[in-house]
Amino acid sequence: MAKRPFIPADGLQPDPYGSHEMPIYQTSTFTFGSAAEAAARFAGEAPGYVYTRIGNPTVARWEAKVAALESEGTGKDAAALAFGSGMGAVTAAALACVEQGDHVVAVRPLYGGTTELLLEVLPRFGVTVTQVCVADLPKGLEAAVRRPRTRLVVVETPANPTLDIVDLAHAASVAKAAGARLMVDNTFATPVLQRPLGFGADLVVHSSTKYLGGHGTVVGGVVVSADRELLAGRLNQMKKVLGSVPSPFDAFLLLQGVKTLRLRVERESHTARRLAGELAQHKAVEWVRYPGLVDDPGHEIASRQMLGFGAMIAFGIRGGVEAGRRFLDALTICKRAVSLGCTDTLVEHPASMTHAHLPAAELAAAGITDGLIRISVGLESPEELERDVLGALERASHPRRGSAAPSRSPRAGSRRAPSLRTGRS
Ligand code: PLP
Repeated sequence: MAKRPFIPADGLQPDPYGSHEMPIYQTSTFTFGSAAEAAARFAGEAPGYVYTRIGNPTVARWEAKVAALESEGTGKDAAALAFGSGMGAVTAAALACVEQGDHVVAVRPLYGGTTELLLEVLPRFGVTVTQVCVADLPKGLEAAVRRPRTRLVVVETPANPTLDIVDLAHAASVAKAAGARLMVDNTFATPVLQRPLGFGADLVVHSSTKYLGGHGTVVGGVVVSADRELLAGRLNQMKKVLGSVPSPFDAFLLLQGVKTLRLRVERESHTARRLAGELAQHKAVEWVRYPGLVDDPGHEIASRQMLGFGAMIAFGIRGGVEAGRRFLDALTICKRAVSLGCTDTLVEHPASMTHAHLPAAELAAAGITDGLIRISVGLESPEELERDVLGALERASHPRRGSAAPSRSPRAGSRRAPSLRTGRS
């Protein structure tokens, strides 16, 4: 009888019991049958695992799943490494690409944690960073990469929280011509709607805390790349030394969550498109950013590179910070929360929440106005959701007529800088 191969075609060990679902290998370490086997595994000459920070079967299954999703239809055969958070993934990816004396170009806006890494952490290690505003593309990017030793271009599209869109094919060709790698944060779009590898991106990063997990139960991150040398070399080294790895249980939850990714993203995008259209008509709304609206500045590029427009909406409520706070308090179905990409609709108001500590000039430079509201549309019925959001808008714009609760946060709206920057999602 033919012997069962120890490692099946996807490179992962088969479950000896034929379990339908990937088991949770909740173990920190793995045993060896002999000293010779241990030596061979450490040398990478025999398959198998040694220690969960280095690798774990449940985590490896999750990595293989994300790599397959990001590779689909791109002609690239990518692999992935999972991290303990999106910031773990972004940090490891950036550190894998740069050395002291190198130059990085960051297309703004980017997620606050990524901005902090690039502007406050990397310079401490002799890496210079130039920010280019998305409004100054494409020329601004072409000029910025001319600086010697440009090794990395970082973009996020759609961007958090403004929903700005970056032309991926253009960014990839500019980075390539300069001898730099392009790293794309694909958290908002997900591989269901956008596969940056197909446009020439070298690295794709995710906060899998968001849509990939999808249920608000896990903090995680992942880096995907077809550059196997980078992945197996410097990126894997960063994973090992930073130690930002997911637990096997988190990988299991992510594997469960990602099963419904396509269904969730399609349904949520459909609801978001409807809601964005309603918001655009509303008198209490100053502006709406949703790449699916035909007059959105990013619509044309998004139509070229995305397979749908996603479930994130940003809009400006008339009346600034106070109106934003009243709107939040008047919501009944939507949840007031940071994070995004979850089955529940989550609403955040950067000026009174995540970005309240930033000086006005910094907010303005990042395109974050006092009235900016970010909605991550969930799986609720579109009608119910619209009733909640539009009703809250009415109550926020006519506070005396409405029943908005008083503000619950005495610090809300404050622009005083706290001693520590809080997590911003
Ligand atoms: N990238 C984007 C676009 C994000 O929105 C976030 C968090 O909100 C991150 C990265 C960081 O992810 P995490 O919170 O999982 O570290």
